[in-house]
Amino acid sequence: MTDIPKSHPRYSSLVARERVTEGMKKGYTSSQGLIAQGRGECFDYLLGERTTASAKTATRAAAALLLTAERPALSVNGNVAALVPDEMVALSLSLGIPLEVNLFHRSEERVKRIAHLLRERGAKEVLGERPDASVPGLDHARALATRGGIYDADVVLIPLEDGDRCEALVAMGKKVIAIDLNPLSRTARKATVSIVDNILRAVPGLTAQIQQLSSVSRADLQTIVKSYDNRLVLSQAISEIQEHLLEQIQNP
Ligand code: ATP
Repeated sequence: MTDIPKSHPRYSSLVARERVTEGMKKGYTSSQGLIAQGRGECFDYLLGERTTASAKTATRAAAALLLTAERPALSVNGNVAALVPDEMVALSLSLGIPLEVNLFHRSEERVKRIAHLLRERGAKEVLGERPDASVPGLDHARALATRGGIYDADVVLIPLEDGDRCEALVAMGKKVIAIDLNPLSRTARKATVSIVDNILRAVPGLTAQIQQLSSVSRADLQTIVKSYDNRLVLSQAISEIQEHLLEQIQNP
């Protein structure tokens, strides 16, 4: 990777670009993934490249949802594999649940490479290479899912997902946790809990929150989930962007 000085004001965004570009060279990420990263970066810029209060509220609800789930599953696509492979493995190990490779632009070769990467980084259970079920309402390649993973999960974490698949999973009766920097995306608006934060910060934040809540009673975790309001959290994310932008103009 290129040597980026830590003192560079856009250090973490340049590191993320490097990781996604490397991910493409290594065959994890599609060329469309580069464009998705660009869209995400733009929203991170508007948010001030920080984890906001509303993202922390969503992360807490997501942790409570995962801890109270019967059969949770974690989805990994090409950008996720390029950006946070170790962090996704750590999250799955902390919950003892599977990772499922789930690609928008599916190719068997890419699925295999990502599954191999995750196993190399210590994952215990990686699904997605032999899908045996279809999510209703999606075209064939995008509908593929695995029993014991996303297909029959009650709670699914879908970082950087597209709106159609999010909506189809919700229509199956699942609780869906999205990680998406765009509070206006269809995914963010359709999900049960939307963490509007960069995946680089969101996944370690979620694992830390799971550790913090691991000794909390089931009843208290259910209260956290019940009192969570995704629409309110998305409105707060918009206000946080607005406040940040005004501050930038007022204090150049
Ligand atoms: P939707 O169908 O939900 O409206 P979309 O078509 O806008 O989504 P996609 O290209 O399908 O977007 O998915 C990429 C999404 O992931 C975008 O909303 C983008 O903001 C978000 N994203 C990209 N990179 C990151 C990142 N590093 N961290 C968090 N979110 C990201």
